Amino acid sequence: MRVVHPLRYPEVARVDAGFLDPNYPAWRRKAGLAPAEHPGVDFNLVGTSGDGDYGYPVVAMASGRVVHARSHRVWGNIVLVEHDELARALGMKYLASQYAHLAFISVREGEVVLAGEPVGSIGKGDPRNPFFAHLHFELRQAPLPADYWPGMDRQSILASYLDPVPFLKAHLAPELRFTYPAARFYFPGGVWTTKGEVVVNLTRPDLAQIGLNEPLP
Ligand SMILES: [Zn+2]
Repeated sequence: MRVVHPLRYPEVARVDAGFLDPNYPAWRRKAGLAPAEHPGVDFNLVGTSGDGDYGYPVVAMASGRVVHARSHRVWGNIVLVEHDELARALGMKYLASQYAHLAFISVREGEVVLAGEPVGSIGKGDPRNPFFAHLHFELRQAPLPADYWPGMDRQSILASYLDPVPFLKAHLAPELRFTYPAARFYFPGGVWTTKGEVVVNLTRPDLAQIGLNEPLP
């Protein structure tokens, strides 16, 4: 299944605070915030500093359903996408990606998004006490409220979250290949619906390649 980097191209992304980053609790204390462990990753664009990447598009990491797209105090705009199909493909019970501190949201709750589809853009979080622009990105393997923050609880972070960096490294599949449980073909003489899975590869913009797991009718 197709998995892309939330900044679309992995080579443009820089990690400024990692998952359970050992420097994170002290950084929070220094910033006057309650100490906490970091349940996600802070991404910035390579070559930027400060707010240089404000407004850069953020995309859905994989196809899924937008279950939350709202504004929160401190968090700013949050988009939460549940990836049922990818979870099944990976043998996981649950998988969701959270995109936080967004300046803008470009999806609505209930919508289905494909991998690489924009969900919003990099922002600064709480307008009254903004951070430097960055994308806070989480991978969750347990259902949690969109704005959930686990504080210092390392055990719950390890149980409910995944480190996005190795996950992305292991599963990135930037080619435009989509797997569907079935497909429908419209011919001049009628319609044919497949019984089984279909793979559509759009990697070559001049040629759509369609793989079938059954004989043509
Ligand atoms: Zn963060």
